[in-house]
Amino acid sequence: MRALIIGGSLGGLMVAHLLRSIGWDAAIFERNDEELASRGVGLGTHPQLIAILKRAGIDFDESMGITPPRGVCLDGHGKIIIEQPMARTLSGWSRLYRALLDALPAQTYRFGKRLTRVEQDAHSVAAIFADGTSERGDLLIGADGLRSTVRAQFLPGVEPAYAGYVAWRAVLDEADVPPELWRELVDLYAFCLPDGEQLISYPVPGRDNDTAIGRRAYNIIWYRPTDAAALIDICTDEAGHYHAAGIPPPLIRPDVIARIKADANRLIAPQIAAILERTTPFFQPIYDLDSPRMVFGRVALAGDAAFVARPHAGAGTTKAALDAACLADSIAEAGGEIAAGLKRYERMQLPFGKALVALNREEGAYLSAQIKPRAERTPAELHRDLGAVLHAHIARSDQMGEIVASHGLTGLY
Ligand SMILES: Cc1cc2nc3c(=O)[nH]c(=O)nc-3n(C[C@H](O)[C@H](O)[C@H](O)COP(=O)(O)OP(=O)(O)OC[C@H]3O[C@@H](n4cnc5c(N)ncnc54)[C@H](O)[C@@H]3O)c2cc1C
Repeated sequence: MRALIIGGSLGGLMVAHLLRSIGWDAAIFERNDEELASRGVGLGTHPQLIAILKRAGIDFDESMGITPPRGVCLDGHGKIIIEQPMARTLSGWSRLYRALLDALPAQTYRFGKRLTRVEQDAHSVAAIFADGTSERGDLLIGADGLRSTVRAQFLPGVEPAYAGYVAWRAVLDEADVPPELWRELVDLYAFCLPDGEQLISYPVPGRDNDTAIGRRAYNIIWYRPTDAAALIDICTDEAGHYHAAGIPPPLIRPDVIARIKADANRLIAPQIAAILERTTPFFQPIYDLDSPRMVFGRVALAGDAAFVARPHAGAGTTKAALDAACLADSIAEAGGEIAAGLKRYERMQLPFGKALVALNREEGAYLSAQIKPRAERTPAELHRDLGAVLHAHIARSDQMGEIVASHGLTGLY
């Protein structure tokens, strides 16, 4: 049995591993011509992700991340105003990508293959690529992310909805962080919560995925309310070209970057602003995506192609792992009967995906509300409990565990 997997990021890679573990042949088709680059950004993990990777034989565990022992909120002067113990492992996107990619036979992963459409009949499914070639298989998985071509073909009206804020991201090598700042910050999962905004920062594995002293990096993610007009402005490059589907980081205008740095100096704890100042930050607009279906004949959606939850729970990759494990188990349990297996997959993962989107939408409601006129905001949208924000982040893995259990998914790992 042969699966065609569209999209070679974390979601597609995990589907390939899990399908191979039940004896399938799995080929990944990635539109990019070369290996994907993460720009060094951090990745929050959950125990379910680590367990599924172990189950698939992937060499990735807690030791591949950094676990700062204290969660803190810093005020605008850099003083700790709230502190709680924490135990969440923060790794790097590329660390996981490397582990997944290296463990696959090279011929399994094809670069430069942009899917344009899918064709299927009662016996097989075909992927048609922009280079004029096609591939045939028994099953096709759309793991092609937020702007999925597979989803667009089967669910043409389903589009990502902009949440009203962007995540500014920055990462700085440990060697470039002034040593006194590093010493102060290395054990902290640090929040800055200026009115209407949210910044989280923490140490992550460094450029070569290294967790050794001196070779780590510092990661910043700053959620900033940005209305539609401001989003168009920051997605417009120096030549005046507007990038509707997201501006490539090198094209972000220098004045936009200068403004974020100036705002950091005005609003954010000086320790974190000093790190941001030394970086070239970039941003990702935040979206919700909620699909009404995940299965269309011999075609299934997985990972961000099916559901995009805002990143507050740091669970997108864990959800993609659960999708991959559920898909493999469902097909195996159905004795290779694809229709029956896919029906079970959708029955289990659709409500879970919806629940995760809803939870994260709720978590981000305060940020979304900041683009509304002040008079129209509810009391909860005007004021938030800083301790509750911090506690919710620290308790994320417990929360994930509860959602996974309440959707009957604990058997997947
Ligand atoms: C700001 C931010 C912070 C986040 N932080 C975390 C975190 O801490 N922890 C966490 O678990 N998750 C986090 N996430 C979410 C996480 O990145 C994703 O949920 C996860 O990586 C799953 O992605 P995916 O593989 O499904 O999709 P993607 O990573 O989007 O990959 C889709 C792939 O498909 C390819 N593709 C697209 N179209 C085609 C086509 N037509 N033909 C061939 N290939 C195609 C793309 O090139 C890409 O490689 C965060 C997301 C954001 C935006």
